[in-house]
Formats: sequence, C-alpha cells, structure tokens
Amino acid sequence: MANIPRDPPAHPDDGPALSRDSRIADSACDVFVIGGGPAGSTIATLLAERGLDVVVAEKDAHPRFHIGESLLPMNLPLFERLGVHEQIGQIGLVKRAAELNSAQHGAPVSLRFADAWDKCHPYAYQVRRSEFDRILFDRCMAAGARGLQRCRVASVRFTAGGAQLITTEADGKRRWHCRFVVDASGRDTVLGRQLNIKRRHPKHASSALYAHFHGARRLDGKDEGNISLFWFEYGWFWFIPLVDGSTSVGAVCAPEYMRTRRSSPTEFFLETVNLCPQLAERLRNASLCGPATATGNYSYLCSRMHGERYVLIGDAYAFVDPVFSSGVFLAMNSAFLAADAVTAALRDPAHAPALLRRFERQVNRGLQQFSWFIFRMTSPAMRNLFMAPRNMLRMQEALLSLLAGDLFSGTPIHWSLRSFKLVYYTASIMQWHANFTAWRKRRRMVRSERTRAFEEQGDLVHSASKGV
Ligand SMILES: Cc1cc2nc3c(=O)[nH]c(=O)nc-3n(C[C@H](O)[C@H](O)[C@H](O)COP(=O)(O)OP(=O)(O)OC[C@H]3O[C@@H](n4cnc5c(N)ncnc54)[C@H](O)[C@@H]3O)c2cc1C
Repeated sequence: MANIPRDPPAHPDDGPALSRDSRIADSACDVFVIGGGPAGSTIATLLAERGLDVVVAEKDAHPRFHIGESLLPMNLPLFERLGVHEQIGQIGLVKRAAELNSAQHGAPVSLRFADAWDKCHPYAYQVRRSEFDRILFDRCMAAGARGLQRCRVASVRFTAGGAQLITTEADGKRRWHCRFVVDASGRDTVLGRQLNIKRRHPKHASSALYAHFHGARRLDGKDEGNISLFWFEYGWFWFIPLVDGSTSVGAVCAPEYMRTRRSSPTEFFLETVNLCPQLAERLRNASLCGPATATGNYSYLCSRMHGERYVLIGDAYAFVDPVFSSGVFLAMNSAFLAADAVTAALRDPAHAPALLRRFERQVNRGLQQFSWFIFRMTSPAMRNLFMAPRNMLRMQEALLSLLAGDLFSGTPIHWSLRSFKLVYYTASIMQWHANFTAWRKRRRMVRSERTRAFEEQGDLVHSASKGV
C-alpha cells in the first residue's frame, strides 16, 4: 500500500521545464530510490536507518513475480545485517551445492559450498522472489523509508542542488524534489536509458526461456534444495527447486538459437528441454505450472556508475548472465557499497568523490571476477575443469568461494583463482581446436548482436525521420 508523502514544499532549485505545470503536486525527500527490488529496498533500509528521509518508488505492487530465485551463501551475512535472516529462512529452501550435469562427462559433479575456502558459509536459499522481495520492501518501510507502490518514475531531471522526478500513480502525477537519486530500477535501467549510457555487453550475449513445473524429480534427502545445471548443445539449463514443491527450470541460450523459434514460447521451451535428455528425465512426470516466458538478449552494462547526485546499483548498472546465480547478491552488495557514498554525498560532500570511486571499483571488481568465468562457461576447457574438480593449490576451494560470492570479505582466494585461470589457459591450448571453434562461435554471436542493435537503432532513426 502506498504511504502518503509527508512534506510537500517546493525546492529552491526548481527548474522551469518541470515546474510550470501547477496541477502537479510537489513533494520532497533527501534520497529518491527508483525501484523496490532487492537493490532498492536494501539501500533504502540502510539510508533510512541513518536518519535520511528516503522514498522508494516501485512501479509494481508486492508481491509480484520476478525471475532470479537462487541465492548465494554470501547473501546470508547481508540478511543478518538487515535483520531479515529468520524471515528469509522461513520462505527459502536450503541450497547446499550446485550439481553439474554434462552428457559427455558421465556422472554429475556436486560443488558443495561447505568445501569453500572459508567454511563459515555452507549454504544459501532458493526463494520465490515475490515473497523475498516483499520481505525486503517491508523491511525498508519498517526502517522509516516511504514505500510507494504502483508508482512509476517517468522522468528524472538534475538540478543545481539535486534532482526533480516525475512519478505517475493511479491518482495522477507527482513531482519529487530530492538531493540524491539512486537508480535501482533493474533491467528497466531508468537512468541508463535517460542518460544514454546503457550499452549491449561488448563481450557477451544470451537470452533465456523459463517456466515452473509441478512434480519434477529432485535430488534426495539433504540435497533436495540444490541447484542443478545441465549443459546442452545451445547453452545450459537451470533447475531450481522451491519450497512449495514447484521447480523453476530455464534455458539460457545464444540469442541466435532463440531466433530459430517458430512455435509459441511454451512449445519451443519443451522442444528445447527435449534436447537435453538428462533434464528431460528429471521432468518426465512433471507438468507445467503455467506458460513459458522468453527474454531477449539481456547482457548489458552502463558506461557510468555514478554522478555527483546519482548512483546506479544492481541491474540498473549492469547484468551479464545468470549462470552463477550472482544477480541478487551483487545487487544487494552494491547497495551496501553505495550506502556510504550516498550518505557522504549528503552529509560530508568533501569525502563523497573518494567514496563514490571506491564503490565503483568494488562493484566492477565483483562483476569482472564473475564475468571471466561467465564468458568461458560453455567452452570445452572450462566444462572439463568443472567436471573434474581438483584442489591443487587450493584452486577448488577458491573457485567455490567465488561461486559462494565471497569476493568482498578479504578471503585470500586471489592467487588460487589465478592458478585456476592459468590451468584453464593451458588446457585451452592443449585442446586448442575445440576451444578456438567455441571462442569463434561466441565472438560471431556477440558481433551479430551488436550489428542487430546497430540496425535496430538505424531503423528507429529512419522511422523517426519519417515521423512513424
Ligand atoms: C533469466 C534470468 C535468470 C536469473 N536467475 C537468477 C538467479 O537464479 N539468482 C540470482 O541471484 N539472480 C538471477 N537473475 C538476476 C536477478 O534477477 C537480478 O540480478 C536481480 O533481480 C537484480 O536486482 P535489482 O534490485 O537490481 O533489480 P530488480 O530485481 O529487477 O528490481 C528492480 C525493480 O525496479 C522496478 N522498476 C523498474 N522501473 C521502474 C520505474 N520506472 N519506476 C519505479 N519502479 C521501477 C521494477 O518493477 C523492479 O521491482 C536472473 C536474471 C535473468 C534475466
């Protein structure tokens, strides 16, 4: 339910363009957060706890569906710090490992978080995002943030002392005056689009098809909640068991494979499942809970993460690929990293630039670490290494720490990760033909996505010039 804004004064920095229409009501706050997903609700909680007047606008109403149901062990310390661990535990299914399946490699391999470098984080949760996101949103309101639901941010304009935002709700428009804007709008990338800083990812392209099933065959006993991944010819599948007995299944494929679709998303999804016999077997007695959803290429990043009066956090800055289930963790973690910088921008401006740069460095470091593995995940050499894990030079422990999201707490995994990369490059040279072919295929795909984007832009310009 939307809270009523508290204070409606006009702001001294009112610019002429947005302030002319006197029919629009005015409101004010210190920090305006666009989007009430995990990133937005997390930063709103942290800033409201520091006594700032925070507004979070969410265009939907919680609970609402969202994809991204598998969390990482390093989410749990963040839940503790927000005080929501117990609630998340009640809606989550415990995930202890990732089970990897590759038809060419025989028996599946289980990567257990308990075997990571730091043994203190042996599990994570699988969650329904509708419930998970609602808990986080309620948490920020309990901390004092004003949560507005069914409230869409239509535009943002920066002024000398902050920004003006226009929001639309069922009962009309409102103009907000704030001192700082946090864009946590996820894939909608409100500021990324408006500032024209959003780009297709230069090194990666992938799309997804997903649905939920009743009656999928899970792993036994304590392993019931583990995620399973299945490689197949055109990419890989996720299999995420949820606490209510349903299972989320998705195919992540090259966009060019998706473009071969001639049937409905649901028919195409089931045809795709049949290309992976190991997964098809797990779904033999299962039935769909609803139609499948298809997404286009979703790999992108923005060329800037902050300005003097704004930051982009979570997916509003970048999203690469879901293979390591890192999206929610990186989104919430970026909110934690940004909170200090935003507070400084409002209370201690002299220190803000350094804190904003540190925020950017840390977010990019996390993204780069995951991206190195994401780009190579479907290469034959990487598949071989994952399917035959060895803990030489503690490489396996370091890899498991990365997969757990343990990149920001100082666990000394970096030399072992470098050793892993060296082993990967050596393996790639030894099987150079298969790896070179896979690399060339990936590069062709990314280039063709770039060309398509360019052509689409050209079409738009062409249409616009014809007044279409
Ligand atoms: C196919 C696929 C599978 C994935 N699987 C996983 C997974 O298993 N595990 C994982 O961790 N991650 C996964 N992810 C990634 C994950 O979904 C995201 O990284 C995560 O949700 C990012 O959180 P966020 O808060 O940044 O954005 P979001 O969760 O997208 O939240 C943004 C919010 O902003 C709101 N909003 C948008 N525009 C406006 C506007 N103009 N005004 C007001 N509100 C607005 C939206 O309604 C939304 O609620 C997956 C992603 C994809 C595409």
